[in-house]
Amino acid sequence: RSKRRGRGQITVYSREIAQEMKRATQLEQALRNAIIADAVDVHFQPIVRIRDGAVLGFEALARWNDADLGFVSPAIFVPLAEERGFIDALSEALLRKAAEAALAWPRDMFLSFNLSSAQLMDPGTALSILSTLSRVGLDPSRVELEITETAVMSSADTAQRIINDLRRVGIRISLDDFGTGQSSLGRLRDFTFDKVKIDRAFVSQITTDRASEHIVKAIVAMCEGLDLQVVAEGIETSADAAKLKELGCSMGQGYLYGRPIDAQATLAYLQGCKRATEAHTA
Ligand code: C2E
Ligand code: MG
Ligand code: MG
Ligand code: MG
Repeated sequence: RSKRRGRGQITVYSREIAQEMKRATQLEQALRNAIIADAVDVHFQPIVRIRDGAVLGFEALARWNDADLGFVSPAIFVPLAEERGFIDALSEALLRKAAEAALAWPRDMFLSFNLSSAQLMDPGTALSILSTLSRVGLDPSRVELEITETAVMSSADTAQRIINDLRRVGIRISLDDFGTGQSSLGRLRDFTFDKVKIDRAFVSQITTDRASEHIVKAIVAMCEGLDLQVVAEGIETSADAAKLKELGCSMGQGYLYGRPIDAQATLAYLQGCKRATEAHTA
């Protein structure tokens, strides 16, 4: 009897797996169509100086609202594009849109753009990024690229070569989601970065969990010693911001300062926001 039940379960599971695969393939097709139709969008979230809230730049975040599927998170569709081998096409379209939007911002503000781990294994990535920026006409020195520790680990030599090529023309590199993943402090010694983004997992607990507070404090001190800039991600309350300021973390990002908004809303936001260059007179 149990055998029969077992076999029945296998049938259920394989049907679920088949449905899952079908859904992934539908999603893939819809995403490919969206890229062709230029329907994948980018939103922008401010990155500020915690001391006074002055806006320093924006992180570009991919947004896809499909007519049939509804809102699909980038945490779903970016990995899908990686798996199915068209992350380069998706990323190129996103970088072009993000760079075009950034042309309208004050020149002292940077654009931060996420690279996926697959792109750091592809030797063609640096050239592709540079040609997109040059076609749009955005100065590479206004661009930062966010990469994760996992990405750097997986294909170290290629990743380092790409990073070197990009830094040579003035692009800065941020280590995203720092403190999560297969972290290795050795990476900070072996690789050349400009900035570290402390993961939201620590920042969100900073006022309630002593361990998180100490971890953030240690990361900030380490970055100071290594001459790296440091950004705290996921700041949601003014209490978080006050604690980060106390710990000496100079930059921040999170719902407290602004949610990701589209290019047009970003222009309106820029009209009313505090600027770093005006801070002296304030
Ligand atoms: P990420 O690069 O670490 O981006 C930060 C994520 O945290 C974003 O989620 C952002 O909306 C969210 N966030 C920002 N502030 C807060 C806050 O105060 N509270 C909370 N709860 N969340 C906050 P999003 O937009 O859903 O993106 C998820 C991830 O998808 C990103 O994580 C990034 O890894 C990836 N991603 C997004 N856009 C792109 C892209 O254009 N290219 C690539 N390769 N990956 C992307
Ligand atoms: Mg990021
Ligand atoms: Mg992050
Ligand atoms: Mg993340």
